[in-house]
Amino acid sequence: MTKIHIIGAGLAGSEAAWQAAEAGCSVTLHEMRGVRETEAHKTDHCAELVCSNSFRSDDHEHNAVGLLHEEMRRCGSLILREADTHKLPAGGALAVDRDGFSAAVTQALESHPNITIVREEIDGLPPEDWGPTIIATGPLTSESLAAEILKLTGEDELAFFDAIAPIVYKDSIDFSKAWFQSRYDKVGPGGDGKDYINLPLDEDQYNALLDAIIEGEKTDFKEWEQNTQYFDGCLPIEEMARRGRQTLRFGPMKPVGLTNPHNPTVKPHAIVQLRQDNALGTLYNMVGFQTKLKYGAQGDVLRMIPGLEKAKFARLGGIHRNTFINSPKLLDAEMRLKARPQFRFAGQITGVEGYLESAAIGMLTGRLAAAEALGTEGKLPPRTTALGALHHHITEGHVDGGKGSFQPMNVNFGLFPAIEQPTKDAEGNRIKGKEKGRARKKAMTTRALADLGQWLSSEREAA
Ligand code: FAD
Repeated sequence: MTKIHIIGAGLAGSEAAWQAAEAGCSVTLHEMRGVRETEAHKTDHCAELVCSNSFRSDDHEHNAVGLLHEEMRRCGSLILREADTHKLPAGGALAVDRDGFSAAVTQALESHPNITIVREEIDGLPPEDWGPTIIATGPLTSESLAAEILKLTGEDELAFFDAIAPIVYKDSIDFSKAWFQSRYDKVGPGGDGKDYINLPLDEDQYNALLDAIIEGEKTDFKEWEQNTQYFDGCLPIEEMARRGRQTLRFGPMKPVGLTNPHNPTVKPHAIVQLRQDNALGTLYNMVGFQTKLKYGAQGDVLRMIPGLEKAKFARLGGIHRNTFINSPKLLDAEMRLKARPQFRFAGQITGVEGYLESAAIGMLTGRLAAAEALGTEGKLPPRTTALGALHHHITEGHVDGGKGSFQPMNVNFGLFPAIEQPTKDAEGNRIKGKEKGRARKKAMTTRALADLGQWLSSEREAA
């Protein structure tokens, strides 16, 4: 029987193993817990949830996360099956009894006739005679394997920290205050000198923002994170603010090379810039605004910036230990490492964020690896699905493909191709006001599930 090796029995590796085994491959799943611990896991169960016990919103009609749940159910996901079985009351969220959940995933994998679990640390790159191998070792990949991946990918292509700048939905920015312009109108490749969104602050606004950043409640680095290499190039804004009241003005907030068309005669004291974050142009990240401010405080502080008063954030900023590769540059569409196609990557190490997203990419990678091993054609999910939108983000979705610009992401509607705004509901009534947003989301999720159905049929035909 065709053999596949998978390293790491976390959320991604467990799902990948299940999918490949169900497709008819023989899977060896290598997991170090049991013989070696990580800094965050507490058990030797497969698919352990290291922190929260929630897979977030289960609303598959109006929420991208809930949609991904539904897509995974329809793909025969083990993680979703056991999450549904071990569900706890949690309003609209899919929260689970964490021990019951991961014990059941472990039991399902251990009792599958095509799966063998080996408890060992893989401390270097596996030899060629292993054949197809999925690396799903997660944000806490052990040091020796991470060092080997670093050698293979190059230093600039493997990160050890998530330094996340907040990401804003463009349609929530107030363009009576904001404007598009690149510094000194510089025209980059494919650009028009208007690549950035700019937000101006006068002196009082800058000082008030600075005080709020300094005083805002922060999260601490965990003890084990403090020993990990920390880069000066991604200092949190509060650290820059602490170093001096002008540091941010001479750093990411410098007001040079830009003219405010709403008020051309007044020179702003400081300027916040936002850079396009997805190919669709629906999401913009706040340049240089990585922060350890707590989420609640962060929203309040950032909405003090003129133009962001009503900002909606696709993702708030943060800095924490997270091993991930520069997937858009290193991986091909089938999640194979271009430099060594024997290796595929799955889970958080590919630059998705979250239990669910990690499991989803494990599911996709397991299916693609199985198709290749069994000599059938691997089918990529349509971009209009939540699975396809995530896949697109990690393989080619971010803007410049250059070093340092790729950051992990949860699934969200900003990653989906746009859809025409529905004007009438099912009864033919005009959709007004607040209902418009819900109607657009419903249209997106309806399109996604229809396209997923077609994709699943095409997979079955190819098999
Ligand atoms: P993991 O689930 O971590 O699985 C990787 C597996 O590989 C582990 O079992 C590990 O033991 C094993 N492994 C590592 N190196 C080796 C090796 N060399 N040989 C053999 N085995 C190896 N996401 C959320 O949605 N909600 C949260 O609340 C949340 N909290 C988090 C808290 C922390 C501290 C961290 C680090 C992450 C958190 N995440 C959270 C993010 C992320 O979703 C989870 O880490 C998720 O488990 C990632 O899935 P994964 O399969 O990629 O990695």
